[in-house]
Amino acid sequence: MAKIFCVANQKGGVGKTTTCVNLAAALQLAGQRTLLIDLDPQGNATMGSGIDKRGLKASIYQLLVGLEDLAGVCVTSPTGGYDVLPANRDLAGAEVELVDLEQREKRLRNALAPFDADYDFVLIDCPPSLSMLTLNGLCCANGVIIPMQCEYYALEGLSDLVNTIKKVHANLNRDLKIIGLLRVMFDPRMTLQQQVSAQLEGHFGDKVFRAIVPRNVRLAEAPSHGMPGVVFDRAAKGAQAYMAFAREMIERARTF
Ligand code: ADP
Ligand code: MG
Repeated sequence: MAKIFCVANQKGGVGKTTTCVNLAAALQLAGQRTLLIDLDPQGNATMGSGIDKRGLKASIYQLLVGLEDLAGVCVTSPTGGYDVLPANRDLAGAEVELVDLEQREKRLRNALAPFDADYDFVLIDCPPSLSMLTLNGLCCANGVIIPMQCEYYALEGLSDLVNTIKKVHANLNRDLKIIGLLRVMFDPRMTLQQQVSAQLEGHFGDKVFRAIVPRNVRLAEAPSHGMPGVVFDRAAKGAQAYMAFAREMIERARTF
């Protein structure tokens, strides 16, 4: 059975896509059959996986509205080796169209179900909102991975996401839980970041992943080459951190 994880945080630019793409590539390198689902109309995870979002035959949009099944949409990342359900601007319209469809929150869940045995891990890159698209992600997931920067306002805004997760848990998906908080773009030279990091550990205990992803320019450069950072420069500190994070996820997934 596939373990399904949403990478979510309603803030933009916090490292969701970078985390999704690099975790997918690192899991695939570790021998795990991995599927990455791009649920953001910006299509950054698609492009960062080396897939041109402008030349797609079909995208996750067609899957959600029921025009295609998973096999008809799925593309293998030429650089990362994992499978991708790609996204582009078409997906922006889905938000409105889904409202009128049956089981609108469970479209993705229902579409994934027949392919459950084909993957060990499914990772969902959510848009920076608590929208119908994010809801579709949360409805089919076993858990949520929350990437966050150790900044002064990091905890603010987290409560909205936590409340949404609680509501989805109560009403739509009893499996859902927060798997953990991942500290990203971390700069250990900044005292404030160390303080917030310690605060997170104090507050959330073992819900904070041991792996910490440093701010690392190689991770930021990789998408322009259509490559996950862990493939682009395996030796870089950022890539090493995502490899460690993948090992930690494999370990945690065993306890599910
Ligand atoms: P989100 O998907 O939450 O909007 P992204 O993953 O796209 O966030 O990251 C936002 C920007 O920060 C991107 O330009 C990305 O390349 C950069 N970035 C993400 N993680 C790191 C990191 N650890 N070090 C340096 N740059 C990073
Ligand atoms: Mg993104």
